[in-house]
Amino acid sequence: MALIVQKYGGSSVASPERIKKVAERICRARKSGHQVVVVVSAMGDNTDDLLSLAAQVSRNPPEREMDMLLATGEQVSAALLAMAAQAMGVRAVSMTGAQVGIVTDRAHRNARIQDVSAQRIKQALAKGCVVIVTGFQGITPDHEITTLGRGGSDLTAVALSSALKAKICEIYTDVEGIYTADPRVVPNARKLPSISYDEMLELASLGAQVMQARSMEMAKKYNVPLHVRSSFSRRTGTIISKEVKAMEQVVVSGVSLQKDEAKVTICDVPDRPGLAATIFTGISDANINVDMIVQNVGRTGLTDLSFTVPRADLKKVLRVARRVAAKVKAGRVIHDEDIAKISVVGLGMRSHSGIAAKMFQALAKESINIVMISTSEIKISCIIRKNQAAKAIKTIHDAFGLGKQR
Ligand code: ADP
Ligand code: ASP
Ligand code: MG
Repeated sequence: MALIVQKYGGSSVASPERIKKVAERICRARKSGHQVVVVVSAMGDNTDDLLSLAAQVSRNPPEREMDMLLATGEQVSAALLAMAAQAMGVRAVSMTGAQVGIVTDRAHRNARIQDVSAQRIKQALAKGCVVIVTGFQGITPDHEITTLGRGGSDLTAVALSSALKAKICEIYTDVEGIYTADPRVVPNARKLPSISYDEMLELASLGAQVMQARSMEMAKKYNVPLHVRSSFSRRTGTIISKEVKAMEQVVVSGVSLQKDEAKVTICDVPDRPGLAATIFTGISDANINVDMIVQNVGRTGLTDLSFTVPRADLKKVLRVARRVAAKVKAGRVIHDEDIAKISVVGLGMRSHSGIAAKMFQALAKESINIVMISTSEIKISCIIRKNQAAKAIKTIHDAFGLGKQR
């Protein structure tokens, strides 16, 4: 008898009818003899609705109270799913992250898991129960409720799979697996039979929200086998696993798009040692994650320094950047919110050349200007104008021959 973990995302439990469908699937897995642990997200867009409620009562809601609020969404879907399963004759019990012993640090809204005891889950499984756990949340050692960052139910599922040594962690969502690009943006995107942890981590960090990036870091670290598939069909989806030799033969696995960053430029920075350190220390002290950084050659003793940050942090960044710019006697600070980042990802890039050239040629052919470029071992990203993003992703997807054979 195998232990399997199944995670159902928000759209899979968006209505009472869908919850009943999920309950049927759980019952099938249970009746075929498996031990089943289920992780659920909040119903539909409930987390967004809760965020909007908070914004209506406070301009700056305390993070602790935000976590108290956000954690309730998953409690609703977990309890309803347990009721639906019981009504179908399967023993099921719902539990919160706190009840099953998911212990995190104190970083509200984006807490890191420190320990998973899972003792209560094991006891309930031994009694023949299906255990339904609220995704996206844990508890600090001093009993404060925390949440694990947007999309964090994926992380709960991976953490429980690792702690329970599950045979497989099934991620049920509203698409049939991992595609060569977001199938809602690129209609001829192709479903991948498998993908490596590293590629999925890059794609997720670069905008493919189908898996939470942090959950991929943990899956890789603990080698948790994942199967991403649809909760609306029985078709096989995509296996995410550690790299195997055959994967390297595929040069580019996928293309992704991120539209929630902004570019900040500090103009006329004196070209002296230590200034980048001063500027970015100021920004990191404000707890802001900087993504791409570009510094031009300072032929006149002055240089422009550009970087990208999450758009949600822009106001904070501009405040810090203006203060630091004044301190180092730099010029104006300007910003641009109408940018998008387009990236190609693939393990084969390690051993094949010409990928960047091909990407730039595809953009040039459509007269799409590149604002910034960054690369790593298995990815190339370009910042472009946001209004050209849809055209850019389709054209690059085609240039690498990723679409369905027609
Ligand atoms: P869930 O609520 O199940 O967690 P998400 O909305 O978080 O679902 O993730 C699923 C969505 O991710 C899909 O509907 C799809 O639009 C989007 N997506 C983005 N990139 C990809 C990709 N490369 N492959 C599959 N889906 C993708
Ligand atoms: N409900 C949470 C969110 O919307 C967690 C998740 O869906 O994974 O971010
Ligand atoms: Mg998700």
